[in-house]
Amino acid sequence: MGSAPLNDLLDLLAPSRCLACRARAAVPWCRDCAGQVRQLPPGCDRCAAPHGSAHACWPADAPVAATVALYDYRGPVAAAVTTAKVAGATAAWPALGERLAERVADAGTQADVVTWVTTPGQRARARGVDHARVLAQAVGGRLTIPVSRLLEARPSRAGDRYHACLRLPGTHVLLVDDVVTTGATAWRAAATLRAAGADRVELAVLARAGSHVLGAATRRPA
Ligand SMILES: [Zn+2]
Ligand SMILES: [Zn+2]
Repeated sequence: MGSAPLNDLLDLLAPSRCLACRARAAVPWCRDCAGQVRQLPPGCDRCAAPHGSAHACWPADAPVAATVALYDYRGPVAAAVTTAKVAGATAAWPALGERLAERVADAGTQADVVTWVTTPGQRARARGVDHARVLAQAVGGRLTIPVSRLLEARPSRAGDRYHACLRLPGTHVLLVDDVVTTGATAWRAAATLRAAGADRVELAVLARAGSHVLGAATRRPA
């Protein structure tokens, strides 16, 4: 057996490589990729939609009370997320989590606990890591807010289903995930936390795909 696959794996795990293109560089991005990373300016407090144009916000009954998104989900950011998912290459993700934490701090969170949108066990084991957990731990560490696994996930045809691990009466939860696209996943996870008694759920994501309205596809959450 040749050692090339192993070397590739070690390279992916090495923290001294750009998260996107794997060039040797200070993390998270090499200079070329850093130039292509688009950080989102703070948007709508509730859904993170870009400021400057009218938008239909999360509906009034949405379980997510506030949203923070750090990056536009494209280019190097999308490459970094894919690499984390297929190869478990998250050695440099705490650095991303700390940047996300700064954005959350700027938004002024009062969360009691940080949790994450859990990956079903089988899929997390296949990847070697639950990368949203890596982000959540970095965010909680930076903000000195306890981090706790509050959700169990099971795969289903209509997307992962969540169950709360414990009752959360009156709790203010900061829910962390890597990417928000339609908002459907975050909605289901946040709705589960609210049903377990959480008073307020805020969402913090590394990246937001597009500038569309979140929740438009989730007005009738299953
Ligand atoms: Zn790069
Ligand atoms: Zn909004």
